[in-house]
Amino acid sequence: MKKRPLIAGNWKMYKTASEAVTLVQTLKAAAHAVSNVTIVICPPFTALSEVSRVLKDSPIHLGAQNMYCAPEGAFTGEISPMMLKDSGCRYVILGHSERRQYFKEDDILIHEKVKTALKYSIIPIVCVGETLAEREAKKHFDVVKAQFADSIGRLEKEDIPKVVIAYEPVWAIGTGKTATPDQAEQMHSYIRRLLNERYSQEVGSRIPLLYGGSVKPDNTKSLMEKPNIDGALVGGASLKAESFAQIIQEAQQTYETGNKS
Ligand code: PEP
Repeated sequence: MKKRPLIAGNWKMYKTASEAVTLVQTLKAAAHAVSNVTIVICPPFTALSEVSRVLKDSPIHLGAQNMYCAPEGAFTGEISPMMLKDSGCRYVILGHSERRQYFKEDDILIHEKVKTALKYSIIPIVCVGETLAEREAKKHFDVVKAQFADSIGRLEKEDIPKVVIAYEPVWAIGTGKTATPDQAEQMHSYIRRLLNERYSQEVGSRIPLLYGGSVKPDNTKSLMEKPNIDGALVGGASLKAESFAQIIQEAQQTYETGNKS
């Protein structure tokens, strides 16, 4: 039996607060037709509070794209877990490859952020994934294993069930090059095995594993049909209501059809 899919939209550094409100109003209307998908949107910090007001009484959840690992303090330019909660966030994306690449975040810092998010009951969507050079050197499994061990595998057994993991091959993000469903499934089943070995099969089977990297309406079904792909983290295609709504509908149909057969 497949898990209820989770589709999360990462809006990156796009949309002013008023543009975000317009987009979310359309999405909110589209979400009424969806009952079997968990939907999360992650606008920029400056739009969170206004989007949260629009989402009141809506099944769409709000998430942020980053967070610092201290509860408060002299950390100019950073955002705390309490600030996210105050803005209505239930989720936070941590360790996105753009944070790793441009802001030099490493797995030790990401782990601290994951622990802090959990302490404040915010669900972390923790990203892992290899670069093109690492895949070409056939190091992709080793890279993801190390990222997993340092950012996730150091969590206690009681904390791990609250985590979502996103496999995002860096070479597929924003490039239009999606991993094939088989490439994605291979890595997802590897991550599932890492979870089973580190924690237990019961725990491993419960953790949602999202795929991210140029997910579009026309490739959602083939990805979501794979047994270990439980959802998607969507960048570019989440910036337009029509394409994000189509991805959600594809995920819902694939889930309903798969669980009937
Ligand atoms: C992302 O930003 O996490 C992402 C997967 O982007 P895109 O869908 O544009 O590749």
